[in-house]
This record gives sequence, C-alpha cells and structure tokens, in this order.
Amino acid sequence: MSAAELNGTLVASKLLTDTAQRVELLKRSSGKIPCLATVLVGDDPASHTYVRMKANRCADVGIRSLRVELDAATTTDQLVGELLKLSHSDDVDGILLQHPVPHHIDERAAFEAIAPHKDVDGVTANSFAASALGFAGYESCTPSGIMRLLDAYDIGIAGKHAVIVGRSPILGLPVGMLMLRRNATVTYCHSRTVDLADQVGRADIVVAAVGQPELIRGHWIKQGAIVVDAGYNPGNVGDVEYSAARERAQWITPVPGGVGPMTIAVLLAQTADAAGAPAGEAIRLASDQSAR
Ligand code: NAP
Repeated sequence: MSAAELNGTLVASKLLTDTAQRVELLKRSSGKIPCLATVLVGDDPASHTYVRMKANRCADVGIRSLRVELDAATTTDQLVGELLKLSHSDDVDGILLQHPVPHHIDERAAFEAIAPHKDVDGVTANSFAASALGFAGYESCTPSGIMRLLDAYDIGIAGKHAVIVGRSPILGLPVGMLMLRRNATVTYCHSRTVDLADQVGRADIVVAAVGQPELIRGHWIKQGAIVVDAGYNPGNVGDVEYSAARERAQWITPVPGGVGPMTIAVLLAQTADAAGAPAGEAIRLASDQSAR
C-alpha cells in the first residue's frame, strides 16, 4: 500500500479564499478591516520568518497586520504590558504572540495577558478549556488545522484509536482533546513513555508533535493507519520517517505542505471571526479527484 497524501496546501488555500471572501463582505457591509497584531520577542531568525509569512498571508486575504517587535531583553512584565495594551485596543481584533519566547520570559503569564476574545491563536487557558469542553472560543491553530484537514477528506474520527506523540499546551494536548470530543479513543505519548513503538503500532491515527526528525519510524505504523506529521525540523524533515511510513499508511501528511499551511490559514480564519466577519464554508475535498 502507498498512502494518499493529505494535501494541506490545497485545503489551506481553499480556507484562505473563503476567509478573503468573508473579509471582503465585512468591509462592504461595515467598512471594517480586520487587524491581527503579531508580537515577536528577540531575534530568532525562524520566528522572524514565521511572522513575516503570517503578515504576507494577512495581506493576501485583506487583513491588516500590526507588527510589534521587542528586543531579546524584554522582561515578562514588559511583554505582559504590551499584550494588555493590545488586548484593550479598539484597533486590534486578534493577537498572536510568536512562540517560543526567550527562556527568561514566563510564556504562560504572557499568553494569559491576551484577552480571550482576541486569542485567535488559541493559546490561553480560557481557549483551551473552551475547546476541551466544546464551548465557544478559539481553537489552538495547529490542532484545529489538523481536524479541518481530516474533515476535508471526510476521514472519520469516532471510534478510532488516536495516538498523540507530544503533549505541549499548543499542539499535542489540545489536538488530543479535539479528537476525544469527536469520540476517538486517545492515548498521549511523551518523553517518559515506555515503548513508543508499541503505542504507535496500535494507532488508527498517529499525530506526531515532538520536534525530533523522523523519531517515528515507518515500520512502527499499523497497516492502513492515518499519519499526521505536525513536526517541523530543519531541512524540511518531519517527525515521521515519511517514505517508509507511506508504504504502510492509508493517508499521510507530507512535510512541508501538510499541517504547516493549515496553521496559518486557521489563524486568519479566526482573525476574521474575531472581527465579526460572516460565517465561513466547511471545506470538503472528498469528491474532488485533484485532491488525491
Ligand atoms: P514542545 O513544546 O517542545 O513539545 C514536544 C513534546 O514532545 C513534549 O510533550 C515532549 O514530552 C515530547 N517528546 C520529546 N521527546 C520525546 C520522545 N523521545 N518520545 C515521545 N515524546 C517526546 O514542541 P511543540 O511546540 O509542541 O512542537 C512540536 C513540533 O511541532 C515541532 O517540530 C514544531 O516545530 C512543530 N510545530 C509545527 C507547527 C505547524 O504549524 N506545523 C506548529 C507548532 C509546532 P514531555 O512533555 O514529556 O517533555
């Protein structure tokens, strides 16, 4: 068997088009242009690239971006102060604090300074609780992107055994909660898990969210499983040994072009939501042969 690819670039581009249409409708009906504030601390080149990419995508869909860049010596209190200012600003609809922040900063305290109604990246405790319990709120972007990607291909979640490798608050933990809410049976694996290969081998759905190149070996994958690789490592390498995993899986995300593009597309869709844009369309590719 050679798995079919879950094409995140294609699904994300449909979501971006849908968002651009919603933003245009909002502008025409109220004159309002949504604004996303991005906050970057320090000079990590990868983070600068991510923030630039997000600003470019904002421009593509008609969202204004406000870039706030703070130097690496910024304290937790100073960062919290900036985020509170943006949280109270009438000109800003959504706020993104680029992760990771320098080690001396209390990232959790900074995230919690983002007002829940502007937390379009879904990083606050409030957003996490809302998405775990199924209340209204913004979902963490990468987990939400993963669910939307599976939905676009009509891949059912209910009753499947999902093994999530990684439990970070922005990725592994919330994606497992979203799958649980959709009636998967969920196992979390992490750095203390004993016999990761055995756990992964039991999965109908594997979500790799670690940040270690090809940690998940292809021969661990159960025949016919769905493999979602959220990992991104230097040299465009994921957390899954792609070529061998593809021989066993039914569906697999490529790296790049799988989960990554979905994350930004969800961020912008949620920024449009925060600005009051009309509801969007569900994106389905199941009948679209070009998606396979
Ligand atoms: P993180 O905060 O560093 O968390 C990594 C997780 O992996 C932790 O839960 C850790 O366990 C677990 N882990 C570490 N070594 C392990 C091992 N040997 N076996 C099993 N689990 C292990 O990372 P993150 O922010 O969630 O990001 C994870 C990956 O996703 C990175 O490659 C990142 O670049 C990528 N990412 C991609 C996107 C996107 O848009 N595509 C967005 C966000 C992140 P402990 O909890 O026990 O330490």
